[in-house]
Amino acid sequence: MEIGGSTVIPLADRFGRVATDLRVSLTDRCNLRCTYCMPEEGLAWLPRPELLTDDEVIRLIRVAVERLGVREVRFTGGEPLLRRGLTSIVQAAAALSPRPTLMLTTNGIGLERLAAPLRDAGLDRVNVSLDTLDPERFQALTRRDRHADVLRGLAAAATAGLTPVKINTVLMRDINDDEAPALLRFALDHGYQLRFIEQMPLDAQHRWDRHTMVTADEILASLAPYGLQPDVVSRGTSPAETWLVPGHLDAAGEPARVGVIGSVTRPFCGDCDRTRLTADGQVRNCLFATEESDLRKLLRDDAHDDELAEAWRVAMSGKRAGHGIDDPTFLQPARPMSAIGG
Ligand code: SAM
Ligand code: SF4
Repeated sequence: MEIGGSTVIPLADRFGRVATDLRVSLTDRCNLRCTYCMPEEGLAWLPRPELLTDDEVIRLIRVAVERLGVREVRFTGGEPLLRRGLTSIVQAAAALSPRPTLMLTTNGIGLERLAAPLRDAGLDRVNVSLDTLDPERFQALTRRDRHADVLRGLAAAATAGLTPVKINTVLMRDINDDEAPALLRFALDHGYQLRFIEQMPLDAQHRWDRHTMVTADEILASLAPYGLQPDVVSRGTSPAETWLVPGHLDAAGEPARVGVIGSVTRPFCGDCDRTRLTADGQVRNCLFATEESDLRKLLRDDAHDDELAEAWRVAMSGKRAGHGIDDPTFLQPARPMSAIGG
């Protein structure tokens, strides 16, 4: 296949999966400290010279789109809204041919101001993380008093047309696991699409415990009063299993849906179509990979686009069949979620 004069050789692995969805972490820094992600204090940031510059990020996205067949790009972090060059990176990615779908995962702080400029730059959609409707709980969970900023960010995203606006929620036992029905009510009332994510062993403190994790089954049981129905639309390569919420429509007038991402108890590794780039230019073929491939060094050694593309392909070809969380030999990756890019 040829795209814009370049030959596309996709990111295929030994198990027949092809990665077309690129997650780009733009920073490992964050203005929150969610307990399941970061320690309260003391996490060293990546040194600035190690971070890819805006031009380097844009070049690697171009290589991914033009030579590797990437069709979707999601910006994440850390908190991607903290990246100064975000709007220009989005604009450059939107100018690529073929134009990738552009998405952002954010904690929503600052989105009130940035939603419209990001939309104008070419961003298509956002996921905003929100684990509670209670400001005090929010403070306990994120160790910052910013609940109102997140709600304003959500509203601004909807107004700017970054739709459907999705909410990502992680439930934790005895902390916010009683909130699933209320969060769904909130999402339905505002036309947001809610997705629960099972907590994964990616916290900086390595405190994750399978036995206390709130499972997809438990989440679905707590939503029983809504009488959820199996979705008619296939999940495809999406990690979220979705259910229809009878009697409710979303902001576009479609039947309302709720999603559950059972990363641990209902793994979707067999359909995974993701490739990841960290803020310091390392390709990761899986969230749980323990090895990375250094594209930054190649970039800074003046590698040609063909060499970058080939190194990326090699990195992806070694992707394991699954995350192996249930395997006794499972090792949590050295980097926490905030430094990988969720
Ligand atoms: N700061 C942004 C945010 O919070 O949306 C983007 C980065 S964050 C790492 C991306 C997503 O990963 C968020 O929805 C967050 O809730 C989720 N996340 C973080 N740590 C997690 C964990 N240990 N298990 C499951 N999801 C996690
Ligand atoms: Fe920051 Fe997102 Fe991690 Fe929370 S989940 S600490 S907002 S990177």
